[in-house]
Amino acid sequence: MRATVVVIGAGHAGLAMSRCLTERSIDHVVLERGEVANSWKTERWDSLRLLTPSWQSRLPGYGYAGADPHGYRAMPETVAFLERYAEVISAPVQIHTAVTSVRRTEGGYAVVTHRGEWRSRVVVLASGACNIASVPAVADAVPPAVTTLTPMQYRNPGQLAQGGVLVVGASATGVQIAEEIQRSGRPVTLAVGEHIRMPRRYRGRDIQWWMDAAGILDQRYDEIDDLARARAVPSLQLAGYPDYRSLDLNSLTALGVKLIGRLAGARDGKAQFSGSLRNQVALSDLKMNRLLDTLDAWAAANGVADEVEPPQRFEPTRVEAAPPLWLDLNRGEIRTIVWATGYRPDYSWLDVPVLDRKGRIRHDGGVVDSPGMYLMGVQFMRRRKSALIDGAGDDARDLSAHIACFLGGQELDLPMASAQVA
Ligand SMILES: Cc1cc2nc3c(=O)[nH]c(=O)nc-3n(C[C@H](O)[C@H](O)[C@H](O)COP(=O)(O)OP(=O)(O)OC[C@H]3O[C@@H](n4cnc5c(N)ncnc54)[C@H](O)[C@@H]3O)c2cc1C
Repeated sequence: MRATVVVIGAGHAGLAMSRCLTERSIDHVVLERGEVANSWKTERWDSLRLLTPSWQSRLPGYGYAGADPHGYRAMPETVAFLERYAEVISAPVQIHTAVTSVRRTEGGYAVVTHRGEWRSRVVVLASGACNIASVPAVADAVPPAVTTLTPMQYRNPGQLAQGGVLVVGASATGVQIAEEIQRSGRPVTLAVGEHIRMPRRYRGRDIQWWMDAAGILDQRYDEIDDLARARAVPSLQLAGYPDYRSLDLNSLTALGVKLIGRLAGARDGKAQFSGSLRNQVALSDLKMNRLLDTLDAWAAANGVADEVEPPQRFEPTRVEAAPPLWLDLNRGEIRTIVWATGYRPDYSWLDVPVLDRKGRIRHDGGVVDSPGMYLMGVQFMRRRKSALIDGAGDDARDLSAHIACFLGGQELDLPMASAQVA
């Protein structure tokens, strides 16, 4: 089977690329191992809602048209939105077609699936940035009596034993799961490392509105100082609750969640925690306030200050003076551990030498270090918003222009920094 371009993955990133290729009349196929929006259908917990408001899911040729643009979609709505998008743009998706190998050929690539082989000149890797839950090595030292699970295995508190739960990681996933489990009556201890505190609403507007309007989400990968760092920052402490409430460490302690430092190791069944909790929360408060200062300055400079509520500042994060430095996992207090310690992509099927020693793709703004190979949907790929649904459109427009030039044998002057990694 042949196509000029093979796109791997029918999440929003693959679909946005499909739409842009269609606009350019470039023939292509989208290969998807599950169904459209597979990650949202099969890999998320039941209560998850998008943390971006509905208006902020603008895809090429498509957007939100419902009655609640400021609300946050639940998973069934997110899946329905992407399924409808695939229909509207007539995306040539082949579902239940898992790619098991991609290798170079003389004229491009051979893309092997369990339903046959495709040959193409161009391959777009839109297979997702969050295919595998990252679990720290310390997991091996957890006593067998403690059940451990990742956010991809977690669905709701009902699946957990009664008793204490240790949630490791306090970014978006960790704080949301910690809150839900605590509310179910299982006492939660939350291990807190580096995190980014963020109010849901600021001066009467959604924080995503501010970051969008002030151009922060549009910041380009070749304009910022420390790209490696920007690509590794944790997700914002946000949730998309229908009542627009913020979710931060103070709201969790008010519910009874115990905060503890970053999980540093485990020995003889004892989990050890860093003593840096106070510093971590102070740093996070400081960074949040710096961002709010930036937003205030932007509002003042752009004539917006009078349209919104006056500036606000939030209560500093409260932590115990000396939180415990270890927990005995043999004592039965902790029955379950949830590893909310991040996600990573899976490129185990990619037989093209484009991975660095940490397993990340070598690319320059999505142009992979192998002619005719492109990437989509990873953190800060071309812009700060690249991994968000709202970021796929601009990236797909840029990269489809690059693909068109590549196919036509022309050079395209896309702004590109020197080779970077995802
Ligand atoms: C818990 C969580 C919450 C998030 N919340 C938001 C949010 O509120 N707003 C927002 O904008 N973003 C959110 N994101 C981020 C963003 O949507 C994800 O990073 C998303 O995975 C990126 O979209 P994508 O299309 O690149 O990947 P995906 O949606 O993961 O799509 C990739 C597709 O590729 C398929 N695939 C993978 N490997 C293969 C293979 N070998 N062969 C064939 N098909 C394959 C997968 O089945 C999948 O359908 C969230 C992410 C997570 C993990």
